[in-house]
Amino acid sequence: MSVQIQAEEQRYSRQQIRDLATELLINVGVREQFPTPLEEIIHYLGYTIEEFEPDDDTDRVSGAVNHRQQIIYINHQDAPRRQMFTLAHEIGHVFLHREQEANHIDYRDGAMTPREQEANHFAAELLMPENHFRHTWMTWEGEPELVAATYGVSAEAVRVRADILKLT
Ligand SMILES: [Zn+2]
Repeated sequence: MSVQIQAEEQRYSRQQIRDLATELLINVGVREQFPTPLEEIIHYLGYTIEEFEPDDDTDRVSGAVNHRQQIIYINHQDAPRRQMFTLAHEIGHVFLHREQEANHIDYRDGAMTPREQEANHFAAELLMPENHFRHTWMTWEGEPELVAATYGVSAEAVRVRADILKLT
């Protein structure tokens, strides 16, 4: 039990995650390019993307990552904007958690553990960096669909981002 809790301890603050995501965007040379070119980032990290056709066993899986083989798996049936967030989330696991686990599977309705929260924060910072997001939000007067089009994400992802940044 104590081992389990330790393994799932939160390791990064929001500020640290923001700094790490910004650094990654700069290193890959894609800062201020939107929608964020996630494939370039994934290749920079030495990983490849494979889409999978969900079957009965995997239809609840949105994405996964195999660190040993350095492959990120993405559900082929999901809408492109949903896939964007999933890919960014998996990049979060690659960047933040690859020392802790050999594989990671993300279920649609999976528990929101500290690691999942960290990966979500990382994804949001990659796709919708805070300062840029604030500016875009003001430009479009907080219209989620219009803001979402800038970043290639779902309106729902924009609403969550705006909530966290206390813009709503
Ligand atoms: Zn995850």
